[in-house]
Amino acid sequence: MKKLIKDIDIIATFNDKSEEIKNGWILIDGNIIEDVRSGPPPKFEEGEVISGKGMIFLPGFVNVHHHFYQSLFRSVKEVQSAKLFDWLTFLYEKWKNIGEEAIFISTVIATLEMMKSGVTTTTDHLYLFPREHPNLFDSEIEGVKLTGIRFYGTRGSMSLSKKDGGLPPDSVVQREDEILNDYERVMNKYHNPDPFSMCKVALAPCSPFSVTKELMIETMEFAKKHALLLHTHLAETKDEDDFCLSRYGLRPVDYMETIGWLNSSVWFAHMVHLTDSDIKKLSEAGVGMAHCPTSNMRLGSGIAPVYKMKNTSIRIGIGVDGSSSNDTGNFLQEIRNTMLLQRVIYGPQAITPREALYFGTMGGAKVLKMENAIGSIEKGKAADIIGFKTDRLEFAGGLNDPVASIVLCDTKSVDFSMINGEVVIENSFFKKVDVNDYVERQNHISKMLLKH
Ligand SMILES: [Zn+2]
Repeated sequence: MKKLIKDIDIIATFNDKSEEIKNGWILIDGNIIEDVRSGPPPKFEEGEVISGKGMIFLPGFVNVHHHFYQSLFRSVKEVQSAKLFDWLTFLYEKWKNIGEEAIFISTVIATLEMMKSGVTTTTDHLYLFPREHPNLFDSEIEGVKLTGIRFYGTRGSMSLSKKDGGLPPDSVVQREDEILNDYERVMNKYHNPDPFSMCKVALAPCSPFSVTKELMIETMEFAKKHALLLHTHLAETKDEDDFCLSRYGLRPVDYMETIGWLNSSVWFAHMVHLTDSDIKKLSEAGVGMAHCPTSNMRLGSGIAPVYKMKNTSIRIGIGVDGSSSNDTGNFLQEIRNTMLLQRVIYGPQAITPREALYFGTMGGAKVLKMENAIGSIEKGKAADIIGFKTDRLEFAGGLNDPVASIVLCDTKSVDFSMINGEVVIENSFFKKVDVNDYVERQNHISKMLLKH
């Protein structure tokens, strides 16, 4: 069925020319944008007409780093002021009791929160597979199917436990043969490589301090063979620098280089502690980046040098990171923090509101190598579109530049969202899902898990 969104005040397309169309319309055929222009809309007799009057439309946001399950562990009292390694060591003991229902419900909650703040495509880094629950990836897929978000799952892994010099306890790490077998199972079952696919899969060993060198190399070889993308955490804290130096005799980026992980099929989360020569290497390799400013602030990890990277060949996207270290999954806030945090070090011109929005749209699409399908409002692209009403409280007095106001005026949520041609949020309400039901179930599970 066709849909026409007409009388739109402004369409910020984020196409190659950064066009912003005034008084425009968007014609959608099924799940694809058929046309987008300004002026009077085409004659439209059959299909749905949606009014865009008094609204700004943007391409849906692309979140490139998250841990959905952590939405069960927000604001945990004991680690509200902990740094990463202490925070992890405490939480692993809670996380190890997670099961299928917890993953399903937390996925629903986390993706609804994403959608409310404008995300239409999200990744998730699920690396927690306690012994008795080896198939949690499947529970996550059930959750994303229920909410209808476009999903790029990453099958994570941990293989280096405390007894072998790593950080996580034995109960949450898996044997390497188990991990490799599950890569294959998950890929065959869920990875759809079609450009407009609603579900793709990448591989994501967790971090240098929870995965062996052998598994990093085997994962890379498996991904190469099957043309899958790769993801992991990198250079997040000073403690990680020390760990890599003492275990491998190398700093994190150099370690990645020696094991063949510096190439364009990889995107790294964080990349906070980088030297200029690290940035040069990462740029030459054409890696992607998930910038997670709120998590970096919350854990006191540091400030990633995005300003120094923005004109290199590093592809920059934004991620909320897990909700235990954020503790929200509000993507609009992440875009705003991306702009603000760089200014603390590099001054007021470091990142503009539109650059931050670009990282949240086309930037993320490029990180996931999906720029031909998502990330901009253009003819032939997926109909992943979000809208903001401009008569809201946050915009009052900010209409001299409404697009920038989305970032500068701290807009917290969208009024409209369409994913793959289907309207999922209308007049700021979810159309398909009763949120309250899932909130109640999430709170119940969270309470149980924190009791242990
Ligand atoms: Zn993370």
